[in-house]
Amino acid sequence: MQISFLKDLATPRDPTSPFSFLNYLFTKGRLQKFINLGTFLPARREYEDYMRWCASHFSRAVKYGTEITRVDAVHNASTGKVDRFTVHWIDTATGTPGSATARNVVVATGGSPAVPPLFAPFTTGEDVRFIHSSQYATSIPRLSPTLLAAGSPQHFVVVGGGQSAAEIYVDLASRFPAAKITLLVKDTSLRPSDDSPFVNEIFDPDRVSPTYELNAAERAAKREKDKGTNYGVVRLELLERIYSDLYAQEVDDPCESNWRCRVRDSRTVVAVQRLEGGAGGVRLEVAKTGAENGEREALEAGLVVFATGYVRDAHVRILEGTRALLESEVAKGGENATAATPEAVEAPAPSAEVVAPAVVPEAPKETITETTTTTTTTTTTSSSASEPSTDSADAPAPSATTPADEQVKVTVEVNSAPAVFPVGRDYKVQYAPGAVEEGAGIWLQGCNEKTHGLSDTLLSILAHRGGEVVGSIFGPGAGSK
Ligand SMILES: Cc1cc2nc3c(=O)[nH]c(=O)nc-3n(C[C@H](O)[C@H](O)[C@H](O)COP(=O)(O)OP(=O)(O)OC[C@H]3O[C@@H](n4cnc5c(N)ncnc54)[C@H](O)[C@@H]3O)c2cc1C
Repeated sequence: MQISFLKDLATPRDPTSPFSFLNYLFTKGRLQKFINLGTFLPARREYEDYMRWCASHFSRAVKYGTEITRVDAVHNASTGKVDRFTVHWIDTATGTPGSATARNVVVATGGSPAVPPLFAPFTTGEDVRFIHSSQYATSIPRLSPTLLAAGSPQHFVVVGGGQSAAEIYVDLASRFPAAKITLLVKDTSLRPSDDSPFVNEIFDPDRVSPTYELNAAERAAKREKDKGTNYGVVRLELLERIYSDLYAQEVDDPCESNWRCRVRDSRTVVAVQRLEGGAGGVRLEVAKTGAENGEREALEAGLVVFATGYVRDAHVRILEGTRALLESEVAKGGENATAATPEAVEAPAPSAEVVAPAVVPEAPKETITETTTTTTTTTTTSSSASEPSTDSADAPAPSATTPADEQVKVTVEVNSAPAVFPVGRDYKVQYAPGAVEEGAGIWLQGCNEKTHGLSDTLLSILAHRGGEVVGSIFGPGAGSK
């Protein structure tokens, strides 16, 4: 991990919580040995086990194997305001749709792989040779026999310049000792992450409010200044190891092009082609960064792993059904406008930047077709953080509709650019004034980096942030422990 275990899911807000990493170690009988390790940075495998252990305490309240497809607003017939939301899902095993209604919905869908458009056509199909870094750990054992098959290029390429790219490059080099491994870095150099103590203060919980209060331009400038803590950077120890391994090759052979493992900086992939002949593999055309139309070099690769980061825009699609409640939409005065007719039309300051995905669907017009159940405005059961909006086997479910309910085909036409969902400091989506009743609402988690700072996508303030959301839903004090 690249974060102290003390910034676990609970400790920063409540060091006495049973869900601390230390209590996890104690419960598993490893506390003494972990102390003997003398580290603040547990392995990812252990941290994953810690999170599974935490989650296991809440299994009654979680419905696994469901993909939320959309959230719709439900208007109260007497007030005309929205007083609840219908959450639609698909069972990922059976495809069965379902839904539940809740007054409070927290959307915390995390990141999804950022796939450069140039690579996208090569990421699907039977003989996939392009994988995103997020797939690496789970796919590489299965892929290995194919990659080593006769005729397949014994050259594996990693694209990227951050921690994931560097780790995958090192792993490929040891996993395939006879293959050539190349790391293509767009920047002029691999760069170290800055986790020095003064800089680390930017991830403190008390930095969120000052960041939120800045104007959009100031926040963007601050983010640019601080991004060396998290984006496109590599831990110094790993850089030193890579450099040392490269040097060892130079001792054996001064001609770099003969080396088995290479780090090529200032390189951008400008074209991709599948290799003919059925053995698998691709041909990359690579140019100097900044001179993409200039001279090109061809590389054949049996595998390309692209560590190109993540986008955090899943909420935009999920919340499309509530778009008409946004002040910016109401201001347009279209037929989508909400029944509540708020007066103010100017978007609040953060709205200009909440959503700025690096890779979004390019086509402005997208048709989403999905099968879901019909819901009626008589579905009034509310849910909360302690009574999640999804049902479960053991707990009484909110008024979830069942597969037996009438099935309808819903076609959503998204005719314009992705909506921007502005959030308040408390992470609550700011719909148009008067559109949503007090006590009802939607909260966004993990996609507010542009308004709440770099810690928003990290574990750093997760414990505090969770408390703030609970406090915002249930009132001050509710999220204090
Ligand atoms: C390789 C890597 C290394 C990292 N290392 C560190 C580190 O060292 N230190 C650090 O602080 N942070 C690190 N992070 C960031 C850390 O993973 C995040 O801060 C953390 O996971 C955020 O938690 P989350 O619950 O908001 O999102 P996630 O953990 O991404 O969880 C989101 C969940 O929502 C689910 N989901 C998404 N869409 C839907 C849908 N439509 N319906 C139902 N479910 C859905 C996903 O399946 C997922 O389970 C790392 C991230 C990566 C990718």
